[in-house]
Amino acid sequence: MSLVVMKFGGTSVEDPAAINRTASIVAGRVAAGKKPVVVVSALAKVTDQLLRAAACAAAGDRTGSLAISSRLRSRHRDTAAALVKDPQAGAELGNHIDEQFNALDEILRGLAAILELTPRISDLVVSYGERLSSRIVAAAMLERGIAAAHVDARDVVITDAQFQKAVPLDSVIEKRAEQHLKPLLDEGKVPIMGGFIASTEEGITTTLGRGGSDFTGALIGGALSADAIEIWTDVNGIMTCDPRVCPDALRVKVISFEEAAELAYFGAKVLHPATILPAVKKNIPVLVLNSRNPDNEGTRIISLAPHCKSPFKSIAVKKKLSIIDVVASRMLMTHGYLREIFTIFDKHQCPVDMVSTSEVSVSLTVDSTDKLPAIAADLSQLADVKYEGRKALVCMVGEDIRGQQGIAAQVFNAVRHINVRMISQGASEINMSFMIEEDDADEAVRSLHAAFFKDPDPEVFDVEAQKLATQPAS
Ligand code: ASP
Ligand code: MG
Repeated sequence: MSLVVMKFGGTSVEDPAAINRTASIVAGRVAAGKKPVVVVSALAKVTDQLLRAAACAAAGDRTGSLAISSRLRSRHRDTAAALVKDPQAGAELGNHIDEQFNALDEILRGLAAILELTPRISDLVVSYGERLSSRIVAAAMLERGIAAAHVDARDVVITDAQFQKAVPLDSVIEKRAEQHLKPLLDEGKVPIMGGFIASTEEGITTTLGRGGSDFTGALIGGALSADAIEIWTDVNGIMTCDPRVCPDALRVKVISFEEAAELAYFGAKVLHPATILPAVKKNIPVLVLNSRNPDNEGTRIISLAPHCKSPFKSIAVKKKLSIIDVVASRMLMTHGYLREIFTIFDKHQCPVDMVSTSEVSVSLTVDSTDKLPAIAADLSQLADVKYEGRKALVCMVGEDIRGQQGIAAQVFNAVRHINVRMISQGASEINMSFMIEEDDADEAVRSLHAAFFKDPDPEVFDVEAQKLATQPAS
């Protein structure tokens, strides 16, 4: 029987209506003879609010912090009450939610007393989001006749102790999945677990990093050698560009892992980049689907995408970037200079996205951060430094640009009216990126989309949906 890991993001479990939709999607898979394992995020925005509560407490604002927690308690209680009508199950769930919030409030009071928030405690605080959402979803599914069984993700997803970005221990996870999930699946049950949260082998709570529920989905899929991993979100899959910027955006029906990984960095909205890895290793297809529109086929991410007539699959944009220019004639014919520059970025723990060098100058791009003045001050010990914010990186991704002649000319012709600051063609040869002013980004995307998606390949892009949308109503 086909085993499928179904991951639902925060918006797919944000309120009773969303959880009902999610339950019927899972029920549909069961009715179709599949064996699902369900992974859920915290209810939408809860992770942010928990982080805020922790930060408030550690800053000494005990009242403010407990007020956030109290609002979260009501939201979870109300959601549970709306979903679970059976008196006994409802009371049990209500008590469970209260116990969890009592424990959380203890931690917040402790933080307000010691005025310090460590990464370890931060992980403990945010873990309540997924611990609660998974309980509520499991109870709601049970009441809807699904043989749901709650599993604490921290018993299965085992990691090292790098809090806030813990690294999973694949072989341990495989054993734990065998121990905790297989028996349930064999009994015909549907395991329901939280994403994002994990624990060390000693049982200390960790997390996989923001947006980490996709990663959990892929880890579980990999550990169980699932037949597919479904990422349920609130968009119809990966699009050729942001539909809010360009209404002609098309759904990409199929894309390769490599292409999706390039895009993930830009549009973290759809997929966590690391999601791809456990799935790639075991060659498990990943489907991005819309829980508000479950009949839509979404986007299928597979190892080897079919050949596509269009050179690009998608145009992504990353905004809020800064460009730093370092100019020194001293660099001419010397060595070790780049190392000195990078040591400074390393010291400030600032990741560099794109680099371009000439004999006497280096330009680098980074996320705009408040560390920039300090970085610039350090760099100015080496050379002349200038930095400028409000830049955007436009990234065109497609495997079929490999070896194609004249693509760069076509790209820059499409944006000839826009000032391009930096250009990079990734070593992977499936990505062409360039840096422009943030204010020009939308216009650039529209021009590029018009130039490259005039005659989209119907095997790869959902041309039908666009035809329907543009047909006059009869
Ligand atoms: N709830 C976590 C977050 O907001 C994980 C996730 O949603 O994937 O980052
Ligand atoms: Mg999320």
